[in-house]
Amino acid sequence: MFKCEQCDFASRIPGHLRRHQLVHTGSKPFSCPHCDYSCNNIENLRKHVISTSKHKGKFLYECKLCIGKANEGSVPQYGTNFQREFKEHLQSCHNLSPEEVKISTASLL
Ligand SMILES: [Zn+2]
Ligand SMILES: [Zn+2]
Ligand SMILES: [Zn+2]
Repeated sequence: MFKCEQCDFASRIPGHLRRHQLVHTGSKPFSCPHCDYSCNNIENLRKHVISTSKHKGKFLYECKLCIGKANEGSVPQYGTNFQREFKEHLQSCHNLSPEEVKISTASLL
C-alpha cells in the first residue's frame, strides 16, 4: 500500500497517491485550453469547460490535426469532452497508432 504522509489516504496504485498528493501541494496541473482556469482534478476541468458560458461550443479536447487542416480562423473540425472519444478519433481519422495517440494526448492527460 502507498500511504500519504500527510493524511489517511492510502492506495495500492502509486499513480493514485501521486494524484492525491496534489491536494496537499496545491498544484493545479489541469488547465483549460481556452482560458487561464486551472484545477487539480480532471473532472472539475471537464465541468468547467462544459458548464461555463464562456466556452459555448468549445471542447476539452480539440483535435490539433484537424485544426491544422482547417483554414486559419475557422473553428476546429473535431472536439470532444471525453478522452476515450478523442483517442478513437485520432486513431480512426488520422490513422495514428496507439503509441502515437498516447504521445499526442500525454499533455492533455
Ligand atoms: Zn493526503
Ligand atoms: Zn476555461
Ligand atoms: Zn482530427
